[in-house]
Amino acid sequence: MKYRNLGGTGLIVSEIAFGTIPILSGDVPVLPDYYSPNEETAIAIMEHAFKLGCNLYDTAIVPEYGDAEIKLGRFAAHIGREKIIISDKSRYFIGDEMYDAVNRSCKNLDTYANIYFVHQVDENNEDITFGRYGAIDALNELKAEGKIKFTGVASHYYDVLLRGAKDKRVDILQGSGNILERGMLERIESEPLFKEKGFILNKSYAAGILPHFFRIETLLSGVLSYPISSVLVGMGTNEQVDQAMMMKTENYSRPSFSQVMSVLEKSFVPIPCDRCQRCRCKYGTEIHIIFRQYNYYFLGKDYWALRKLDLSINESAAQCKKCTDMSCMKKCPHEINIPETVQMIQRLVEIHIRKSLI
Ligand code: SF4
Ligand code: SF4
Repeated sequence: MKYRNLGGTGLIVSEIAFGTIPILSGDVPVLPDYYSPNEETAIAIMEHAFKLGCNLYDTAIVPEYGDAEIKLGRFAAHIGREKIIISDKSRYFIGDEMYDAVNRSCKNLDTYANIYFVHQVDENNEDITFGRYGAIDALNELKAEGKIKFTGVASHYYDVLLRGAKDKRVDILQGSGNILERGMLERIESEPLFKEKGFILNKSYAAGILPHFFRIETLLSGVLSYPISSVLVGMGTNEQVDQAMMMKTENYSRPSFSQVMSVLEKSFVPIPCDRCQRCRCKYGTEIHIIFRQYNYYFLGKDYWALRKLDLSINESAAQCKKCTDMSCMKKCPHEINIPETVQMIQRLVEIHIRKSLI
């Protein structure tokens, strides 16, 4: 296991971090596979990772990740609290609510959290989060009180992460990416503001999809070739721990985007969207999310992707049909004809996909 600096925090973290979703028990339908091990088994799996060099464990408040937060707290007590770094999070954007949430998390963990993220910040809640008496102010208050050591912002949106990178009250950022959805990683790599913050990456397996198409080593080596601190990998069995932790790579490298496309093209015709989020739709269509759901549909998350597409594709397609502006396409590095692709997805939902729900 290799280790990296977590930005300017002084913490040294393992390149592979333990994501606790697979060890939760509870009913959290939006999350990918989890195994519901009992507490004893969950602790044994976390210990196995520790013995292979893992020192960073990420969770979320009960019940966001079921009971994973409680299991992680028990593991910390078992292994020795100071031997591991706990990263925790919750979706509260108003300061008072975040303050209470962190206190609940500390009770569940029965200890402090090294890092606490305000989770899933997006354009609907970012002004509250970053504003006066918002979640970030609350996290800084909790940091002063010693209940947490460092503050964080977790988001799937580049603009939100950039706002966090500019904000002195934020120590660490958490974002998503993988060798397919690498657009945000490339923007982070070329933006100097990110260099001072620790950066933890999630979704390196794309919700468990990409290991069916690429070797684990390719996936992890690929994302570790970007200037990030650590990659979160969800692990629910000792075999999964071994796969992620025993990766043998001296020099990290990534396949080119066109190489990734060629692998996927053996199964379907993917949309060559790397989710860079440069396209903007003034009418509110989240282009990169629609394109991700299309690709995920063919990559094995068919039911999940279908339900999501069904929620907004008709509205987006109707808007694209009458759009004369089409400014969304000006900045697309892959020159995707966005309105045409949206129409194609709508036809697919109508003709082929919707039938499968009947
Ligand atoms: S073409 Fe479609 S996605 Fe692009 S700006 Fe117009 S409505 Fe938005
Ligand atoms: S459609 Fe193009 S600009 Fe938009 S996220 Fe995908 S690759 Fe980036």
